[in-house]
Amino acid sequence: MTLEKSQLNELHWLMEMLHNIDVGLVVLDKEFTIQIFNGFMENHSGLLPREVKGKLIFDMFKEIPQEWFTRKAESVFLLKNKAFSIWEQRPYLFKFDSYRPVTGSADFMYQNTTFIPLLNAAGEVSHLCLIVYDVTDTAVNKISLKKANEELAILSQTDGLTQLFNRTHWESCLISEYKRWTRSHHASSLVMIDIDHFKAVNDTYGHMVGDEVIRHLSDLIREHVRETDICGRYGGEEFSILLADTPLKKAFTFAERLRKEVEKSTVTYNDIELQYTISIGVAEVDESIKAHTSWIENADSALYCSKETGRNKTSLFQQKANEKVENEKSVEK
Ligand code: GH3
Ligand code: MG
Ligand code: MG
Repeated sequence: MTLEKSQLNELHWLMEMLHNIDVGLVVLDKEFTIQIFNGFMENHSGLLPREVKGKLIFDMFKEIPQEWFTRKAESVFLLKNKAFSIWEQRPYLFKFDSYRPVTGSADFMYQNTTFIPLLNAAGEVSHLCLIVYDVTDTAVNKISLKKANEELAILSQTDGLTQLFNRTHWESCLISEYKRWTRSHHASSLVMIDIDHFKAVNDTYGHMVGDEVIRHLSDLIREHVRETDICGRYGGEEFSILLADTPLKKAFTFAERLRKEVEKSTVTYNDIELQYTISIGVAEVDESIKAHTSWIENADSALYCSKETGRNKTSLFQQKANEKVENEKSVEK
């Protein structure tokens, strides 16, 4: 074989390989008309090379954002540097279907694209080559991992029985709210709730019914709060609600509305019907509170006051003349 013939052969093989390689290859001139369009592009777009050659890429692929693409390509022509487009920023350049059996959940093919400057004999960039990689597997795996992590994060913040925040997460919200208060001094109140004589519910009807009562109360709490309020299951049958931007008086109104709603409702479990009540303590954050734990202590001591003075009532914690006074402000039943 002559040298020329072997070189021709190599060129022919190279062309064959580029045509059949499992990445997309597109060559564009400076006017963005398509010069080369390999087999990968043909298979995924359903367009034959002769249908696209000499055509403007934006006319053939309307999904390509012209302004963004032109800016990117111009820097390749001008600076003779490579440029990249990654799926995290732009999921695809060419909107192709995804045929991957493993990642069948993807609606389209995720792509990374490299823009390569092609130099002519004079050393000028006369054309550019787009190399399109199908990264659907990676993208779908990464997206589903991210989703699973987000779900896990929500799960780790949620109490299983009530779907309210668990104590750890609720307390971290309280810490953030306390910090916010130290900067803004916007009124904010804390409501602590404890079911009255709950042991007796368990002892009389069993734990399943006890659980139903806990769920019932958590549903009522959800119904009564605003979207910005932060509700948690603080302990077994204890609940805590952070009412942002709410002064003591308004928090009292909220607590009383909830208490009365509980008082008049009935829990049904199979053929068992029962009623229950709750005791509530409310504390507003103020200058005397130096840590979020003191805020909880204040609400807790108001709750204790409700328990001590007959249950099924709301008590407010009030600070007077720098002296702690647990002032009961319960509503007559
Ligand atoms: P008080 O009016 O003074 O609050 O009386 P109480 O009976 O509610 O007193 P206490 O707080 O000591 O009792 C709480 C009970 O709640 C004890 C525990 O067995 C029960 N408990 C805690 N967590 C759960 C739970 O998830 N499900 C059920 N069914 N019971 C629970
Ligand atoms: Mg308790
Ligand atoms: Mg109790």
